[in-house]
Amino acid sequence: MFLPISRHLLPALLLLSMLSYMSAQTPSSSTSDTHTVAVRLIGLDGQPGPVVQSPLVVKTDAEWEKQLGPAAYRVLRAKGTEAPFCGNLLDNHKDGVYFCAGCGLPLFASSSKFNSGTGWPSFYRPFAPENITEIRDVSLGMVRTEILCARCGGHLGHVFDDGPAPTHLRYCLNSISLVFKDEAEVKKLAPESK
Ligand SMILES: [Zn+2]
Repeated sequence: MFLPISRHLLPALLLLSMLSYMSAQTPSSSTSDTHTVAVRLIGLDGQPGPVVQSPLVVKTDAEWEKQLGPAAYRVLRAKGTEAPFCGNLLDNHKDGVYFCAGCGLPLFASSSKFNSGTGWPSFYRPFAPENITEIRDVSLGMVRTEILCARCGGHLGHVFDDGPAPTHLRYCLNSISLVFKDEAEVKKLAPESK
């Protein structure tokens, strides 16, 4: 009498214990991994600060379109590409930092900008590797590596392995994905970014 009942109960008890284990694990991992991202903001000296957990910037398509306007929305949120030699930052040679036009995360420093001849602003390294997300892009019949802002997921451009020393990488950007601030503006920002 007793054995058949426990044989039926055992799988149910195992399932219950698995479910309670999973429900105990899920909340802690989603709190730290889903809503924040490890990035570097600007330190007081204008250089990358320590790695900090920053809240992910999540908005609806309608909110992004309203904030960015149609041209920047088409690139940052719909992965468009601006025409070469048309962006306003291609020939910018001032010292400063290039921020994400979507969320203000520092993405590139002027010290790594170089003239690639491609018609798009080009850099050989990001401001901080944590601030850029790379994903494989197989659109348009090519295999490329797309680069996105790590905090808001905004499309920035692509990275190629034909850049200059010391990294031999070429981060190819859309000007409209970036907002440039010169050194004086960056110094004013720095305390707030800490
Ligand atoms: Zn961003």
